[in-house]
Amino acid sequence: MVSRVIPVDDFDLVIFGGTGDLARRKILPGLYRRFCSGQMPEHARIIGAARGEMDDAGFRDLIRDAIKEFAKKNDCDDEKIGAFLQRLHFVTIDAKGEGGWSDLRDLMRDGVVKAFYFSVAPSLFGDLAKRLHEFQIADDESRIVVEKPFGRDLATAKALNAGLAAHFDETQIYRIDHYLGKETVQNLMAVRFGNILFEPLWNAQYVDHIQITVAETVGVGGRGEYYDKSGAMRDMVQNHLMQLLCLIAMEPPSRFEPDSVRDEKLKVIRALEDIDHHHIVRGQYDATDTEQSYREDAGDPRSRTESYIALRCLISNWRWAGTPFYLRTGKKLKARTSEIAVVFKDAPHSIFGEDAGRHANVLTIRLQPNEGMTLKVTIKEPGPGGMRLIDVPLDMSFADALGEEADDIPDAYERLIMDVIRGNQTLFMRGDEVEAAWAWTDPLINGWEARNDVPKLYDAYSSGPEDAAMMLHREGRRWREVKE
Ligand code: NAD
Repeated sequence: MVSRVIPVDDFDLVIFGGTGDLARRKILPGLYRRFCSGQMPEHARIIGAARGEMDDAGFRDLIRDAIKEFAKKNDCDDEKIGAFLQRLHFVTIDAKGEGGWSDLRDLMRDGVVKAFYFSVAPSLFGDLAKRLHEFQIADDESRIVVEKPFGRDLATAKALNAGLAAHFDETQIYRIDHYLGKETVQNLMAVRFGNILFEPLWNAQYVDHIQITVAETVGVGGRGEYYDKSGAMRDMVQNHLMQLLCLIAMEPPSRFEPDSVRDEKLKVIRALEDIDHHHIVRGQYDATDTEQSYREDAGDPRSRTESYIALRCLISNWRWAGTPFYLRTGKKLKARTSEIAVVFKDAPHSIFGEDAGRHANVLTIRLQPNEGMTLKVTIKEPGPGGMRLIDVPLDMSFADALGEEADDIPDAYERLIMDVIRGNQTLFMRGDEVEAAWAWTDPLINGWEARNDVPKLYDAYSSGPEDAAMMLHREGRRWREVKE
């Protein structure tokens, strides 16, 4: 199988915050990979724009080091890196002042795609949007890319949307959720809407429940104070887990086009029922012999911010009425894993008798590690001695199925940036989607703040708080094991 590289139009991509952590770890190494794959047009350029005195040579040195540190080892070929670096330029710019903007304008070319990546704090989004227009750098065809966090509640998200909408049309705004750029997430749509096998079963009649898990082994570490202002609900659920929930639950869009897909996602968010506090479990990791507790990491011995959250969501529509969607995410858990598991109902009647046991089909979509899918099916245990049933996985690991090609699968950032250049918004969040997600999240957060809810402690590197296990246990279910 040979992966196809579809060329994109010539572009000038400006990365505001080009010297920052995200640019160095993800954006520029990602662009370098696209360059190596041959996807970057001959004259395409990347312009870093940030605070601090630096020239092109200094920026190139910085990015050379970043590629060596963060790109995959076998991607690092000095000659290729050298050729890529020739595409890079740098402008010192002050988002809040006048400095550097005329230089940037003089550097930009006409007649190419102009894209502006706002890899800076959200408090600067409005300033950047305004100056791009004031200095006539952006035009009606230009695109802007903004990063999470997109607000910390509905009011701030609305203000951010308004700040961007004052200068850019919604069709020009690309709100990144890198989960949507993952190969498996798109494969979820291919599996659902490209096969006849699953969709007839994809509803409350056949699905018992769905679990979405995003587990991390790292704690909040050095980011503790920053993280403490947000917590797992704002940092992970409102965006990444909600997006996954939407893709799993949405109705088939009529076409795989930006607004068709985003309209369907929005309907899911709007159909989410409110959750009472019996169906929310918040946790904080405890100290180990050698490591600090969440509160110590956060620098606040009385912090009530959650490093873990589990929720049971219900979607009020014909397809999903009564089917629980269990969501959980947390830090310092047993394993680093992200997966969606669709647990089907048992067969209505067992012709093999009670001894054969109950066996539910489970379709698991793994986002990390080892992106792939597994379908658990029931077969006869081989050998004589009657009809004993066992569960076996029908396993499709991308790495196994695609062999060396799997290495060529672009990572989420690479794919999404190329989508920006192509002008394809399908995998980006629309403004109304983000606001609807906050409108659902806000009352839950306000509810536990009003109750002075104290998160439950959980052992570091465990599966999370006992109460989360109990929440499912009460409903006769259990979480899937957190494992790699
Ligand atoms: P950072 O602090 O490492 O870098 C910030 C960059 O912005 C620097 O290049 C700095 O020079 C520039 N900058 C700051 N103030 C400026 C000003 N007034 N004018 C011009 N440039 C200015 O931040 P980061 O970690 O790279 O994060 C950037 C954005 O991406 C933030 O909104 C963050 O929340 C988001 N984000 C980061 C990550 C990550 O892994 N780092 C992940 C997801 C989202």
